[in-house]
Amino acid sequence: MNCVNDILRSIGKAGRNEDGSYTRACYSAEYFAAVDITEKLMREYGMETSRDAAGNLHGVLPGTEPGLKSIIIGSHLDTVPEGGLFDGAYGVAGGLEVVRRLKEEGRRPRHTIELYGFNAEESSPLGGTFGSRAVTGLVSPEQPGLAEALKSYGHTVEEIMGCRRDFSDAKCYLELHIEQGDYLFSEGQKIGVVSGIVGVIRYKVTALGHSNHAGTTMMKNRRDAMVAMARLITEADRRCRAIDDRLVLTVGTIKCWPGSENVIPGKVECSFEMRHMDKAKTDELIREIREIAENIATVEFEIVNMIDKGAVSCDAHLMDVICEAAEEAGESHVVMPSGAGHDANPMAHRVPIGMIFVPSKDGMSHCPEEWTDSEETAAGAEVLYRTVLALDAED
Ligand SMILES: [Zn+2]
Repeated sequence: MNCVNDILRSIGKAGRNEDGSYTRACYSAEYFAAVDITEKLMREYGMETSRDAAGNLHGVLPGTEPGLKSIIIGSHLDTVPEGGLFDGAYGVAGGLEVVRRLKEEGRRPRHTIELYGFNAEESSPLGGTFGSRAVTGLVSPEQPGLAEALKSYGHTVEEIMGCRRDFSDAKCYLELHIEQGDYLFSEGQKIGVVSGIVGVIRYKVTALGHSNHAGTTMMKNRRDAMVAMARLITEADRRCRAIDDRLVLTVGTIKCWPGSENVIPGKVECSFEMRHMDKAKTDELIREIREIAENIATVEFEIVNMIDKGAVSCDAHLMDVICEAAEEAGESHVVMPSGAGHDANPMAHRVPIGMIFVPSKDGMSHCPEEWTDSEETAAGAEVLYRTVLALDAED
């Protein structure tokens, strides 16, 4: 029997909105309701539990051979506003299902099994993957706005620095997650064996033209920042597609000055975000974007790097173990990169990571329509369980 779906729906009792979406903002009452439900299940399945100032929940099932390192499983319990049932909570439910089955089948693991329910993985004033960054010691005390944001949640920077743990006793980190893209769904594959998490590179691009009267300034004399930015965006989009199938570019924000119907825009600022596993591809794209910008004569462009989060690779051995587990479980599987960031990202800086994806219907996520069929969530949990058993047989 596979109960991951029952467990997931128990967690989903926290933060469920009337329209069927889920909202569990970091440090909110709804978030802690999910922590309460998860903690109760952890204890029921024999784990010792604790919480930290970062809002994380941690469960420990001691192994029979204390000299062996821990197998850590985790994901997040917070959601985006009006998100779906599966993002984050599914991975925690999968970890709980592993521990429940070990108990049900009377197996006592040799390695200690740990399970994290992380806080604040989604975007918030604390910055993404906050809970897992706190545990891995990757929160900088100088992070802009950190102290103020923490104060609003009743915490201090010092408390967060104290959440850092030692990973010398950890063998690996495993995360089960919905894909949040349409690759598995459209390919008809059941399991994604993640090869790594793509890098996220963000630039602030500003077009500086000249504001002027919208009625009296003839077209040939205009230095319209909006038109120039539009040209840059469409041309950059075209070049991005030509460089690589898996390279993505998103212009997700736009600000316009002075922002009036009857004034030619003098200044326009946009965010250009690009993602790929290979830094050479994003480097190539930004080089081409700079080139296009130089050839747009009506305005000056300023292109400033804001975020440069490197890609992380999954551990080759863990990928092999997951592939074998999927084969044993009789599930079709494919090796693929993750285009979305995860708690596994900070973890990868401290310990070998492995990630298992299941399909997202129509590639939808971060919305109420987010969906994965019960057989597919069960298959993912089965692969995670078999992976843990195989790793537990190793030293
Ligand atoms: Zn997630």
